[in-house]
Amino acid sequence: MEQQDTNFKARSEALREQLIAWRRDFHQHPELGFQEHRSAGVIADHLRGLGYRVQTGVATTGVVGLLEGQQPGPVVMLRFDMDALPVAEANEVPYASRNAEVMHACGHDAHMAMGMGVAALMVSYRDRMKGTLKLVFQPGEEGMNGAEVMVREGVLENPRPDVVLAAHVWNEKPIGTVDVLPAAVMAAADKWTCTVRGKGGHGAAPHQTVDPIVAAAQIVTALQTVVSRNVSPLETAVLTVGTIHGGNAFNVIPAQVDLTGTVRTYNPRVQQTVWQRMRAVMENGAAACGAEVELEITPLTPAVVNDAHVSAVVRAAAEAVVGAENVSADSRTMGSEDAAFFLNEVPGCYFFLGSANAARGLNAPHHNPYFDIDEDVLPLGVAVFMHALAHQQFPF
Ligand SMILES: [Zn+2]
Ligand SMILES: [Zn+2]
Repeated sequence: MEQQDTNFKARSEALREQLIAWRRDFHQHPELGFQEHRSAGVIADHLRGLGYRVQTGVATTGVVGLLEGQQPGPVVMLRFDMDALPVAEANEVPYASRNAEVMHACGHDAHMAMGMGVAALMVSYRDRMKGTLKLVFQPGEEGMNGAEVMVREGVLENPRPDVVLAAHVWNEKPIGTVDVLPAAVMAAADKWTCTVRGKGGHGAAPHQTVDPIVAAAQIVTALQTVVSRNVSPLETAVLTVGTIHGGNAFNVIPAQVDLTGTVRTYNPRVQQTVWQRMRAVMENGAAACGAEVELEITPLTPAVVNDAHVSAVVRAAAEAVVGAENVSADSRTMGSEDAAFFLNEVPGCYFFLGSANAARGLNAPHHNPYFDIDEDVLPLGVAVFMHALAHQQFPF
């Protein structure tokens, strides 16, 4: 039996119809962050039926399933996110969202289905499994930091994982490819708000005012020098102004302009540099106009930094499933991911499963109302996770 039943690709492939059914069921019933009650129920029932020890209600709707092996060994945690987005689905498919204005437009439906598939397969290796498998189904990934809430509620204890793995279906890459980068893959994201205060007055008498619009305009322009002139060309950073609001009449100089934006970095030292320089540019730009600024920077999510050793394990797993020629290491993005809250605590790997199929029109970007995936990614993803788990928990 040993030879046959560790052919994880074949075993995952045998689950294909079930994986697709699960994914389509989740797709039809999308739920926003921290409201994933139905999804959590489906997952918890499935895990309990398989004999997992199940904890529900973690960070409101999160589900944790534990499978203990017969022998001591590492605790491996797999993370699958559950939430959908406030997007109205434009796809006309039989499994389209039945929840108006809410859609699995990022692919977390596929993540949940893969997690259920891994759960089902792992049970059959329990007798020779070492250590503990910890399956974590996380609410509120989309800008809500559900992972941080789960960490606060103790998801990284009892038992504490030795390794964390997480994956994202990825329409930037074709089906049948996997991307594993042994370095920072997703950026730290900060939000900032800046208030430029001047003195309002008549649009025809600017000399009697301190014009915050002129000051804000100079600040926006000067901010463009922060990354280009202060960050090493060998490092990476983004400083974006996302909103600018001021004034409400054509002939009135307002008293205040409000700006908001985001900073994205990989390296905490670069992050500090950007913060310091943007503050200086804002304060000095405003001072030159006689105005004042108030800047507030809120760090939202740290960078996702993959551990080199764990990444090597995942890379080998991916090569076993899709072939070395289909495994790349270049999917860095300046987007952010709250999986960082897990990977900051525990060595891990966050990797990408190519899910686009341009020939079939399945290549809309994530968060787009036409987003859909090639469902071949479901058995492939399960097989990659199984290989990575086998490497750590039941060497064969
Ligand atoms: Zn997303
Ligand atoms: Zn996502």
